[in-house]
Amino acid sequence: MRYVDVILPLPLNDSYTYAVSDAVAAQVLTLTGGSGMGMRLLVPFGKTKTYCAISLRVHDDKPDLCDDKIREVLSLLDTAPVLLPEQMRLWRWMAFYYMSPLGDVMNAALPAGLKAETGYRPKTETCLRLPEKFSTPEGRNIALELLRRMPRQQQVFSVFLTMSGADITREALLNESHSTSAIVKHLVDGGFLQTYEREVGRVNTGGESHPERIQPLSQEQLKAFDGIRKGWEAHAVVLLHGVTSSGKTEIYIHLIEETIRRGQQVLYLLPEIALTVQMTQRLQRVFGSRLGIYHSRYSDSERTEMWQRQLSNHPYDVILGARSAVFLPFRRLGLVIIDEEHETSFKQQDPAPRYHARSAAIVLAQMYGAKTLLGTATPSLESYYNAQTGKYGLVTLTHRFKDIQLPEIDVVDIKDLRHRRMMTGPFSPRLLAAMRAALAAGKQVILFQNRRGFAPVLSCSVCGWTPKCQNCDVSLTYHKRLNLLTCHYCGFTMPVPSACPNCGNPHLSDRGFGTEKIEDLVRATFPEARVARMDLDTTRTRGAYERLIGDFGRGKTNVLIGTQMISKGLDFDNVAVVGILDADAMLNYPDFRAYEHAFMMMSQVAGRAGRKGQRGLVILQTKSPQLPVISQVVHNDYMAFYRDQLVERGMFHYPPFFHLVYIFLRHKTEGVVEMAAQEMGAALRHVFADRVLGPDKPAVARVKTLFIRKIVLKLELGIDQKKTRHALYKVRDGILSQPCYRSVQVFFDIDPV
Ligand code: ADP
Ligand code: ZN
Ligand code: ZN
Repeated sequence: MRYVDVILPLPLNDSYTYAVSDAVAAQVLTLTGGSGMGMRLLVPFGKTKTYCAISLRVHDDKPDLCDDKIREVLSLLDTAPVLLPEQMRLWRWMAFYYMSPLGDVMNAALPAGLKAETGYRPKTETCLRLPEKFSTPEGRNIALELLRRMPRQQQVFSVFLTMSGADITREALLNESHSTSAIVKHLVDGGFLQTYEREVGRVNTGGESHPERIQPLSQEQLKAFDGIRKGWEAHAVVLLHGVTSSGKTEIYIHLIEETIRRGQQVLYLLPEIALTVQMTQRLQRVFGSRLGIYHSRYSDSERTEMWQRQLSNHPYDVILGARSAVFLPFRRLGLVIIDEEHETSFKQQDPAPRYHARSAAIVLAQMYGAKTLLGTATPSLESYYNAQTGKYGLVTLTHRFKDIQLPEIDVVDIKDLRHRRMMTGPFSPRLLAAMRAALAAGKQVILFQNRRGFAPVLSCSVCGWTPKCQNCDVSLTYHKRLNLLTCHYCGFTMPVPSACPNCGNPHLSDRGFGTEKIEDLVRATFPEARVARMDLDTTRTRGAYERLIGDFGRGKTNVLIGTQMISKGLDFDNVAVVGILDADAMLNYPDFRAYEHAFMMMSQVAGRAGRKGQRGLVILQTKSPQLPVISQVVHNDYMAFYRDQLVERGMFHYPPFFHLVYIFLRHKTEGVVEMAAQEMGAALRHVFADRVLGPDKPAVARVKTLFIRKIVLKLELGIDQKKTRHALYKVRDGILSQPCYRSVQVFFDIDPV
């Protein structure tokens, strides 16, 4: 008998040790070239469970337990390791740096197909649809009524309704509704949903590669290209700061080609799945089937297949993906490109590991001795600071391709217009005139409103009642098409009451503008225009992004309305006018990064205008036209914006001068979480003194039935990372060891965005 340490796909901090027969131990060692690392083993856990675990090492140190407590490995699942040593190093770094259990990292990293206990991979997946009788709006309301007594089922069913479209997989519903397969089974057994099987598509569709299709670079682009290569001689990371439509992507394509010609692989990360659609087309034109795409919208079997292929001797040379692509195995990574590097969606918020894919990708690149390129028109303060202080190389592109001018940005004071009663709903006369002119000239319009749904608030005009989420401290958003009220935090849904439940008044009125309402208003104002909307609600199903982006790109739609999803990266030829409907929602957001986010969002969305041909026009509607950040956007003055922000950050001890750690505590009883947070705050002050702020109530102080408290830690840059983490764990464990706090959840958010 020998022993093997394994990671289990559970939120456990430590590895577990199992006994293993000499024969299996020998097999594991042989197959891993002696390291014992990266093989999947089936192991028992608890009374009845079995898990697929990952081996870390084989040894002879008997654990300090009585013999009948030591359990034995049931079987070896693979004939080759499922991860390479670099992947395991990345997992370990992530677990350490982001203070996340290694099991959680494993869970985030491995596609479900590799965590399955049998190693079996289905070739079809189960999808769900509404039975005929519930497919009408009346039918849906009847179903919701029938499910009234079964709130969990009703909630999952409601979430399903918000997802309506083609081929909703059971997996997608489980993810979206945070429910268990038992509840979905109840819904199917009860006749509320029907299942059917769908063939799983193959991952690879690319065809031949065509390096001859690469566009020659312009003078300025060529200079940047050389600058980047020169930058890499002295720095592992280079930041490419290039205005929107300067041809950054064309430069990436040249760098990718050069890297794969050397026989190395490229990882190209984008912040949002929506963006991979357009980028796939641009890259596939050149790299054909040498390009693989990886993100969470792919099914488990597709992701598993991709993972296996990357382990094989014929991996994809270029991987284009969102955040989770950093976990893929690479055999000979040579270049990492992080496009739109400023985007906060690179940070995973929930669940653990709460990692930043930009940092993770830089660490990954370093493990392979690969180079990293960060690209953006609006660098994050952290990255620009790193470039200014010599940690990163810096290359700048100041002109758009073909010297097309950056768009003209017109600021419209909507407070003043409201005052003078000159606003038509959310549209200023200036914006309406610009839209009218653009549409008449056969040009396209993009409208940006960073709020989905129809109206953020519904309320009774008599008694003031507003619908609130039963699980969270927020009002429900009104979705008119679905005739539902939904919570954007937990997914809770309910039908719109026909009258105020408080006073019986049958007239509930809505306030504020969501993308859905904007869409209705645009249709009413421009009945001849073809209008589309791109937000979370219209892109839940497979193929939805492709369709929306494809239709707009081909000119089938004239006006595209969207949330932040449309602000980034997209390259359309014919957009003459961009409308930013409500800059203030971003500017007033209670966060020290509000101006940074607002500046980037506005600059990026403005950058969608006039990319080819004529100069574009942006109408920026705001109640605060006098703010410096507005004129910085108007003049595309990144440097002024950067200097202003830096002064504030220095003054208030924020990044890039300090590291931030947020500590969140959650519990179902408010009194308990408050007490635990106070005690934890006091204990932290013992160690970290005045680096600790709080505890405070966050802006939304209850989510998914749990009350929340937040403690902020501001740490100077040189501080010892190991010691800091050790101290944090110690304080946390001190709190959690008290019986009254045992069920309090505590987690750390390192470098929050
Ligand atoms: P960025 O990534 O900086 O926003 P893109 O690479 O998308 O800019 O370039 C903007 C547009 O100009 C794209 O449609 C692109 O195809 C075109 N373009 C840029 N550089 C070249 C080039 N060297 N040759 C041909 N077209 C180019
Ligand atoms: Zn009322
Ligand atoms: Zn909620």
